[in-house]
Amino acid sequence: MKKLLSIIFLLLLVCAVYVDFPTDTVTADDEETVWITASGAGQRYHYENCRMLRGDKIEITIAEAQEQGFTPCRVCKEQPEHSVDIQPDSLHFVRVIRIIDGDTITVELQNETRPERVRLIGIDAPEIRHPQRGVEFFGIEASDFTTESLENRHVWLQFDVGVRDRFGRLLAYVWTEKPIDEDNEEEIRDKMFNARLLLNGYAQVMTIQPNSRYADLFVEFQREAREEGKGLWGEEEKE
Ligand SMILES: [Zn+2]
Repeated sequence: MKKLLSIIFLLLLVCAVYVDFPTDTVTADDEETVWITASGAGQRYHYENCRMLRGDKIEITIAEAQEQGFTPCRVCKEQPEHSVDIQPDSLHFVRVIRIIDGDTITVELQNETRPERVRLIGIDAPEIRHPQRGVEFFGIEASDFTTESLENRHVWLQFDVGVRDRFGRLLAYVWTEKPIDEDNEEEIRDKMFNARLLLNGYAQVMTIQPNSRYADLFVEFQREAREEGKGLWGEEEKE
C-alpha cells in the first residue's frame, strides 16, 4: 500500500514538474537559439557564452542552424551541460549571461557549462520581439531595466513547484541578494527582481499553476504600481 502511494505521489510530481503554459503564446524567445557569425564563415554555430564567438553575430534557432548545415564549434561541442540537480523550492547561485527581454534571461549554473534560459515566475513583461505583436508599449523600457539590473551579475534563483515549462526553460524567482527569510515581505520588495518589475510597472501579474507561492503578494504589488501610475500603468497607456 505504501509503495502504491509513493508511486502515485511520484506520478503527480512528474505531472507537476512539466508545467504547461496555456495562456502564453509561443514566440521566437521560447525556442533554443544559437549564434552564427555574420559572414557565416566556417559554418559553425555557438552557444551564448562561447569564447570563439567574435565579430558581428546573428541569432538563429538551433533548428534553423542545423537545417542550414551549421554544426557546433569545437569549443561548444565540448562545452558540457551543467550537473546541477534542480529541485522544487531550491535556491541556486548563478551568473546572468544575457537578457532576452523583461522577463526572460539566460544564466550559467556552473562555470564553463552551457547556459540555460530562465523565465521569471508570476509576471509578464511587454513583448519586444513577438512575430505578430512586435514591440509592445513599455517593452523596451522593461527590457532595459532588466539589462541594467541583472546583466553580468550573480543572482540567486529560487524555484517553485514546477521547475521547467514545456519549452524546457527554467522557471524561477530571481533574487539579487540572498534572502534571509524568503517569505518576508520587506525582503521580497527589496531583493526579489520579479517583485521589483511589478512594483515599478515593468510587468503585469501572470500566475500559472502550480507556481503560485507569491501570487497574492504579486497582485498587491501590481495594484500599488497601478495606483501610482508607474511604468506601463502611466498616462500614455490610456487610449
Ligand atoms: Zn562556440
